[in-house]
Parts: sequence; structure tokens; C-alpha cells
Amino acid sequence: MISHPSCGFHEVGDDHPESPNRLHAINDQLIASRLDAIIDKQQATQATKEQLYLAHDKAYVDSVFASVPEQGIVELAPDTQLGPRSLEAALYAAGANVMAVDLVMQGKAQQAFCAVRPPGHHAEYAKAMGFCFFNNIAVAAHYAMAQYGLERIAVIDFDVHHGNGTENIFFDDERVLFCSSFESPFFPYNMGPGNEHILNLPMPAGTYGDEFMQAIGDKWLPKIDAFAPQLILISAGFDSHYEDDMGHFNLVETDFHWLSAELKKLAVKHCDNKIVATLEGGYALNALGRSVIAHIKGIME
Ligand SMILES: [Zn+2]
Repeated sequence: MISHPSCGFHEVGDDHPESPNRLHAINDQLIASRLDAIIDKQQATQATKEQLYLAHDKAYVDSVFASVPEQGIVELAPDTQLGPRSLEAALYAAGANVMAVDLVMQGKAQQAFCAVRPPGHHAEYAKAMGFCFFNNIAVAAHYAMAQYGLERIAVIDFDVHHGNGTENIFFDDERVLFCSSFESPFFPYNMGPGNEHILNLPMPAGTYGDEFMQAIGDKWLPKIDAFAPQLILISAGFDSHYEDDMGHFNLVETDFHWLSAELKKLAVKHCDNKIVATLEGGYALNALGRSVIAHIKGIME
């Protein structure tokens, strides 16, 4: 697991759901589950500007750097604010993903989970959105392609919200198979048309785990298998949990565990077990902590 204390310093108000308490909730359940004693923990390094430019418009990245306030809060998009230490947190969040790619590609770890914030999957090529500044998983994918020459990367996103930023960044890049399941109609309301390598899976409010598992088993798993990824990346969002009021899905820990274990089987089959996952949403703190444990167990065991 990769994280950094600075990911707790991105604070934009006590009533904002994307709060430092999310990481505390995960750590709490890591200890309670005893996974804490088993897994290797590493401190992230910051992503460089050059690494961010792999996935984002240079002028956009530079504008985020230039927007950081010395005090107070600057709003880049609705609900998407920078505080004085938010950029630092965002650089560690993206940097954790880069480090995770290095660890699995160099055989130093088989799977890596990045317990980081701010999240990333709503951040588009040149736009902050939905609590996200830099698209952490897109930086990971681009870095893996640039640094290790990978040509087939599967990116799986099971957050309750569509991974519009990831779709936007990879829409014309056939090296990435992007699979996003999400509540629809719902924020961000801009699901693209999808294409051969962008597999959008919209589902209605009230979706339960059996419907979720059946849809993913029918529509994604055979295509990921046929794609034969050289690396599996996961945008792990847990706001699709039954207890999470940010969305209206009815998933529970066993559903996250099931999908994670299915992805693990595909990773074993195609890419020597290489999985990098990063935290996206998940705002009901108790459910978030339990769900992350189920997810980590799914990709590890
Ligand atoms: Zn979400």
C-alpha cells in the first residue's frame, strides 16, 4: 500500500465529504482486519510536472500550480477547491500511482493499492472536476506506456460516478481498454458515446450486487480476457456502497471483493499478477474502510 501523510492535508472545509477522515477510516480497518501487519507500506514521492504532462494539457497543469492560494480556498470547479496544501496532496496522490507502476513493473510488488486523495477520475485532459485535479489512474497508465513500453492496459472503474476524465483522456488511445460502471442518469451527466475500447456500463439507481455482477460478468470480463492486458489498473471508488449517500447503488463488501478477485484472476492469466489500484470515491466512512479491506483482499489472495 502506498500513501503519504500530505494526502491528509488537502482540506477544503469541514463539511466537504472528500475529507482527510477517509484515509483515517481506511487505516482503522487495516488495523482491525490485521492486514496492517501483512502488507508492505511505502511512502509516495511526488509526481513531477513531466509525469503530469503525460496525461494532461501542459497549460492546464501549469494553471493548477499557479492557482494555489497562500491561505483560504480557490475554486477551480464546483465542489473542487484548492487549499494551501492541496497541490502538495495531489502531487503525492499522482506520485503514489507512478511509484505503484514502478513497483509492479519491476517485480518489487505484485499488487499495489494507493490510499490517496484527492481522487482523480473526473479530471479531464484540461479540466478539474468533481473533487479531482489530476487524473491519478491516467497518469499511471501513461507512465506505464511511456516508461515500460506497454501497449495494452485495462483500466477498471467501479466508482458510482462515471470516470469521465479517464474516458476523455483515453478516448482516442486504443492501448487502453477503459471499463466504467456507474449510476445513470447521475453526475457527471456527460457519459461519452464510448467506442470499441471505452466500455461504459450505466446502471440505474437501486442496482444490487447480483445485477452488478451479472452485467460485469457478461459485458466486461470476456472483453478484458480477450484484450489480454499487460497491466490492470483500477479506479477503486466505494461510493457505490449501499451505505454511501453520494450515490444510489446497493453494493456491499462482498461485491467489491468479487470484482477484485475476478480482476486478480485475469491478472494472473495475462500479466503475471500485475495490478495497481487507486482510491477514488467512498464517503460513508465505516463502509469505506470495510470495502477497501475487501478490495485489497480480493486483489491479493
Ligand atoms: Zn464517485
